[in-house]
Amino acid sequence: MKVSVILTSYNKPDFIDRVLKSMVDQTYPHWELLIMDDGSEEGTIQKIQPYLSDERIQLYSHTVHPAKRLLTARYATLINEALTRITGELICYLTDDTVYHKDRLLKMVDVFRSKPHIDIVYSSQRVVHVDQHLVETMSFIREADHILEHASFQVDHCSVMHRSCLLPLIYEKYGQYWDDEPKHWHHADSVFWMRLNHFAAFFPLKDVLDTTYKTPHSFHHLFSSMPYDLIDGTVIEKEGDYYQIADGKLHGIEKRWINEKNRRAIRVPLLCEMKYEMKEKLAVPNYTVVTADYGKTFFYIEDQKKRRFASKRDVQYFQFHPKEIYTISNDQLQAFEDGSIIQASPVFSPPNRRLFKWKQDVYLLVHHTFCRIDPVVVKRFAFYHQPIKLYPSQFTFFQEGKPIVPLYRESLQEFDMSLYQTSGRKHSS
Ligand code: UDP
Ligand code: MG
Repeated sequence: MKVSVILTSYNKPDFIDRVLKSMVDQTYPHWELLIMDDGSEEGTIQKIQPYLSDERIQLYSHTVHPAKRLLTARYATLINEALTRITGELICYLTDDTVYHKDRLLKMVDVFRSKPHIDIVYSSQRVVHVDQHLVETMSFIREADHILEHASFQVDHCSVMHRSCLLPLIYEKYGQYWDDEPKHWHHADSVFWMRLNHFAAFFPLKDVLDTTYKTPHSFHHLFSSMPYDLIDGTVIEKEGDYYQIADGKLHGIEKRWINEKNRRAIRVPLLCEMKYEMKEKLAVPNYTVVTADYGKTFFYIEDQKKRRFASKRDVQYFQFHPKEIYTISNDQLQAFEDGSIIQASPVFSPPNRRLFKWKQDVYLLVHHTFCRIDPVVVKRFAFYHQPIKLYPSQFTFFQEGKPIVPLYRESLQEFDMSLYQTSGRKHSS
């Protein structure tokens, strides 16, 4: 039986060599390896090159514009492409930070040979966390000991082998193989397991047949605290320069608007920021409190308009610290069109991009909608003020918007978690 192994690769020069070596060291010889490289830099490609003399190994190189990289869960996109090219009767998956143990293919193929009624096999996996110097910090075993009718969140995609005859069934039912929507970055394998489980159960093989390494740079960590989009008004630092997200674009701003105590700049992975088009500099960033008459009147710059605070009390009510009030010239102030007044009462007319508390949850006012915001995101985006308590009449004043949660939680909402024993086998893609 021929096994098609699909390896997704992206810039892991320190790992890729041992991954490929683990393939050529397999005791079972009848396989093909499709290396789906996602536009890695030279260092990784050089490590791949020597293995291409093995005629079982093919390299498929992709180029993707940085702005487009996050439009899909890339490994799922690459796997889908590979699945149209494979020629084996059995399929398994590999990431560039996982090694197969030398009997991995042999032991799995034996199951398929001896048990024709079994369509999917999975094995135990060793998971090793390493620090930035690749030194092991901890490890554990994900045990394979049950037949799984619901394999999502129990099994990593590097621990599975399935018959390729399941593929047309999946395609017919779902219109594609793997679901590569970006919200599934963490769990695209779990989504695929759900599809596979529709047709067959996962049969366990107790042996530990692969070891996967988790590095601080892994994509898994990327979206554990990041929503898919950067929140409007976020200030980021990039090579010593500062930029603000305004209206879905990136605008340069002067360093004088950054203040360690009040407005902090955050660093985000290059990939998260590259999808934003760079636009003109902002003289005064949005969500800034300014005065042009030494504190007689205060304005809030929002969407490049000026909103006057009804009184100094309102500045305090909405939790602005005296240190985050900037003095600008009258000419500068007058350059901004007028927006609506800001006040707590008699009419509740709050500033945007402030945190509010309603019952047990924290909400961010974004473009006049209350969006529930996850504490992890509050921390990641360096919001520093105390949430402002809302009264019932105030909460109903605005519509509720889409919650701001880490991307992986968005994906989780699609699963019926009661089906999975998430405590036992910790999942990871
Ligand atoms: N990957 C990819 N394109 C990318 C990022 C990642 O093809 O832009 C692949 C990567 O090579 C790996 C898989 O996606 O095989 C999972 O990525 P990673 O190991 O960083 O994430 P993890 O799930 O381990 O946190
Ligand atoms: Mg990984």
